[in-house]
Amino acid sequence: MTHRLFGTLCVIGPGLIGSSVLRRLRAQPGLVERLVVSDRDPAVLERVRCLDLGDIVTDDLVAAVGEADCVMLCVPVGAIAPVAEAIMPHLKPGAILTDVGSTRRSVVDALTPHLRNDISYIPAHPMAGTEHSGPDAGFATLFEDRWCLLTPEPGIQQDQIERVSAFWRAMGARIRVMDVDHHDTICAMVSHLPHLIAFTICGTADTLAEDMRSEVLDFAASGFRDFTRIAASDPTMWRDIFLNNSDALLSVLDRFSQDAAAMAQAIRDGDEHTIVETISRGRRIRRSLLENRQA
Ligand code: NAP
Repeated sequence: MTHRLFGTLCVIGPGLIGSSVLRRLRAQPGLVERLVVSDRDPAVLERVRCLDLGDIVTDDLVAAVGEADCVMLCVPVGAIAPVAEAIMPHLKPGAILTDVGSTRRSVVDALTPHLRNDISYIPAHPMAGTEHSGPDAGFATLFEDRWCLLTPEPGIQQDQIERVSAFWRAMGARIRVMDVDHHDTICAMVSHLPHLIAFTICGTADTLAEDMRSEVLDFAASGFRDFTRIAASDPTMWRDIFLNNSDALLSVLDRFSQDAAAMAQAIRDGDEHTIVETISRGRRIRRSLLENRQA
């Protein structure tokens, strides 16, 4: 028998992440009794109705959250605090407020002054995604075997943290609870820097193609093609992530620039040992990701 996690769950922003949660819940009836879905865009809401992802689908944020035991904000990082502020007076006493944002510190700092003390705010970042967005992009198995990083502030009740953990375990994810700033540093390294490099490398190739009046992009083979998949991600979402995690991102970018300069020097010097050692490290990391079921 499925163990019920929440009576009413409200998902605000049924895009890739939000609609994947909703699909998973539809596939496992009983985890949540009633699904309320809200978005500001009527076209998104119409798709949600067509896909039958919610029991109540509305653009009225206040009505959407009033009965919810848990409200999950799945909007871009820059919209999390403003949406949370708008719904705060209307949340049910004792409700859990959570979000799936990719960055933490700036969101927590912006949101905390508006928090009511009868609401548990427990952010949870599922480390899963694709380059696609919107309600049609989601799928029920998106979170399978992926990490979900919970960053509750000190003082949040353990049983409430356990409810959010149980929810994400039911989504298929593995849970790790960590400090806000630690989260931002890790994500800057494993997600935000790779995206920055992918966006930049595509820009460089495009400019080079123009400068050389050549078909650089026509012959884009495997290595470059892998970058273009990441670089196809949503501009609003990634603008928000870069601006909201700027300190951690610039810090890892600095380290990366030093390592890239060291590799350039090794190539200049014909330093075979350094070149082989750097490439071998990459192979070892890939192997450990495969062993850890993260590739
Ligand atoms: P998405 O597919 O673009 O969906 C975002 C949804 O939020 C859209 O329905 C959008 O509707 C809505 N929205 C935007 N601003 C809003 C506002 N002010 N009020 C109400 N609704 C609003 O994005 P996503 O990829 O699911 O990302 C959602 C969140 O998950 C982000 O915080 C992101 O950082 C995080 N995340 C993403 C990934 C990933 O790889 N994609 C992975 C982990 C976490 P409109 O049509 O109105 O814009």
